[in-house]
Amino acid sequence: MSRIAYVNGRYVPHREAQIHVEDRGYQFADGVYEVCTVRKGVPMEEKGHLDRLERSLREMRIDMPMSRAAISLAMRETIRRNLVEEGIVYLQVTRGVAPRDHPFPTKKVRPALVMTARNSKPHPTPWLEDGVKAIVVPDIRWGRRDIKTVGLLPNCMAKQAARERGAYEAILVDADGVVTEGSSTNVWIVTEGGALVTRPPSNAILNGVTRLELIELAAAEGLKFEERSFTLEELRRAREVFVTSASSFVMPVTQVDDRPVANGKPGAVAGKLRAAYLRHMDAQVVA
Ligand code: PMP
Repeated sequence: MSRIAYVNGRYVPHREAQIHVEDRGYQFADGVYEVCTVRKGVPMEEKGHLDRLERSLREMRIDMPMSRAAISLAMRETIRRNLVEEGIVYLQVTRGVAPRDHPFPTKKVRPALVMTARNSKPHPTPWLEDGVKAIVVPDIRWGRRDIKTVGLLPNCMAKQAARERGAYEAILVDADGVVTEGSSTNVWIVTEGGALVTRPPSNAILNGVTRLELIELAAAEGLKFEERSFTLEELRRAREVFVTSASSFVMPVTQVDDRPVANGKPGAVAGKLRAAYLRHMDAQVVA
């Protein structure tokens, strides 16, 4: 099947989809994006992703390219035209096309909106049964990580380092030894005392849509939850470590660098939250 991309109001064959050479997204990473998981052809957590898209655009002073309702329709149409059942839909908005110059264009430019969608394979069983490995790398990113910009080079470098060491994710740690997040995930621990911990939203991390939903689900499960920062040292002593994102859901981490997390097996809290999250997604499919 040939893939279709949505580009500024048109559905075009993926290989023919084009963006202007002076699009500011291309030249300055002047744009933002969202990734939604698709289950049975339905985009998951649509409201959360559109809320964050609006927020990112507002922070960057880029106009919404069209209404939320129109974006939602185009997203569903992109999913449909690509016959996506289980996969992701990707949405990107850049400031638009202008002669290359650092300041924002003074003339009104039309933001560029692009969407793609593709099927993806389920998570391999061993990842869930045995957990995955993570490595630790310094967080070298900028100071507005709350904005979901396409400027992802430090994240790509961290993920590449992880792949080269046979790891699923890179856990980023700041200069004070405090964990920020993963290269494309939020990081959670279950402490020695049994509390579920993830850090609060701030400019230091991306406020994950999955993270927000899991906080609610953890409350419904009656789990003891603390929203606070934690150090790498505390993570190394944790009973459980796991990472979350729209595409990872809840992924147990059982090895950090070359050391096992606790007994090296996925923990009960991660298992419980993953199951709750899968149920929560199923409910969105039938709704
Ligand atoms: N942090 C970073 C740096 C990310 O790239 C992502 C995934 N986009 C997340 C956290 C998790 O966010 P979400 O749950 O919305 O996918």
